[in-house]
Amino acid sequence: MANFCTNCGSPLKPEYRFCPGCGTAVAQDKVTIREDGKGGLIFDVPEGTTVTISDAPPFGKTD
Ligand SMILES: [Zn+2]
Repeated sequence: MANFCTNCGSPLKPEYRFCPGCGTAVAQDKVTIREDGKGGLIFDVPEGTTVTISDAPPFGKTD
């Protein structure tokens, strides 16, 4: 299945995670995003690297 960069339209191979043309991160449906149960999100990527984002900024104004 061919993919194309959503930013510049360059053809992307399935193993690409970043566009070789413009460097935009390629959306991968293999990536699983789940909640960690403590208000954070866990991103599971194919290589087994797990990234946890637990202090994302709140939406909206805080004043
Ligand atoms: Zn691109």
